[in-house]
Amino acid sequence: RGGQAQREIPFAQPGSLTKVYAIASGKGGVGKSSVTVNLALALAAQGQRVGIVDADVYGHSVPAMLGLADARPTQVEDLIMPVPTPSGVSVISIGMLKPRRDQVVAWRGPMLDRALVQMLSDVYWGDLDVLLLDLPPGTGDVAISLGQHLPGAEVIVVTTPQEAAAEVAERAGTMASMMHQRVIGVVENMSFLPCPHCTPEQDHRLEVFGSGGGDRVAATLSSRFGYDVPVLGRIPLDLSLREGGDVGKPVIEADPTSPSALALRGVADAL
Ligand code: ADP
Repeated sequence: RGGQAQREIPFAQPGSLTKVYAIASGKGGVGKSSVTVNLALALAAQGQRVGIVDADVYGHSVPAMLGLADARPTQVEDLIMPVPTPSGVSVISIGMLKPRRDQVVAWRGPMLDRALVQMLSDVYWGDLDVLLLDLPPGTGDVAISLGQHLPGAEVIVVTTPQEAAAEVAERAGTMASMMHQRVIGVVENMSFLPCPHCTPEQDHRLEVFGSGGGDRVAATLSSRFGYDVPVLGRIPLDLSLREGGDVGKPVIEADPTSPSALALRGVADAL
């Protein structure tokens, strides 16, 4: 909209009633997007009006995880209509703004900043109770832009139990705090594999990625920031979660009594 005044970001207005949570991670592949989509559906199941902004530039996997890989937003006048999931969660993805699905986004900071602002201000979100932002891993341009445009966003850091992942996750958390955002908690994903051969009484857990990462990130950030950053939940490794993501039907809906779905609902309840 060259020359025209930019529309304001509704979630940045003083009276906004929408809770904004940015889901961040240090490393890629730790399950940040899986946590985002399942949290969104769990919050929607509580009766909340939920939106997702998928701002993960290179790994924009949110649409596929929700069965919306080929969906395109429609436009009404100069507003973009987000794509709804069957359960009514509104979704916009950086992948939906590309002309072609297989196109690679090689945007520099200013372009990314514009894409983020566009997804926040040019999309018709209506009245949302909760907006979840799936950030790219790391501490890059999108995190900086977000800090500038939505300083009130609260950050949830996803890590695995692994030492190396935790160390990088701490950096992502510290970055958010440098942008004056509050880190409200840590989700430890892939925490353990419930032994498939155990009886319920035995309940042996295989610590595939070690242990302690979530606690470590929570402790480090708590002492660094001077306020309590709790572990909001530990999500086990679960075939159902991976399968649900692959077929576009997240585990919260596809297998609601599975161990990961129960843990993810616990995180939603803790927000
Ligand atoms: P990120 O967004 O951090 O890159 P994803 O959410 O895309 O990570 O997850 C990476 C892969 O790991 C996906 O295939 C996903 O299905 C799988 N995955 C994530 N969390 C779990 C889990 N708790 N159990 C089993 N598979 C998982």
